[in-house]
Amino acid sequence: MNIEEIIDNLKYMISGQCTDTQYDFQDEINFAIKNLKKEVPIKPIRTSDPYNGDEIMICCECSSIIKDGEWSAKYCPNCGRRINWKRRK
Ligand SMILES: [Zn+2]
Repeated sequence: MNIEEIIDNLKYMISGQCTDTQYDFQDEINFAIKNLKKEVPIKPIRTSDPYNGDEIMICCECSSIIKDGEWSAKYCPNCGRRINWKRRK
């Protein structure tokens, strides 16, 4: 099932024409939940590069580098989680 099919199936599920139950759409619902969770922003973790000691930021979910020098990611390139770059007040 590709993403377009999943979206079509979910639209069908909530339409008036649907004669199936939510249990017939478990794969689609689980896919949607998994991908919605990635949109919940996580705080980056400040650490230092083990090779050169430079300050870097890593993902708290998977420890991938999400900021190195001027480069920073809106989403973790490894696990796909959204990064919250707002500073704490
Ligand atoms: Zn990650």
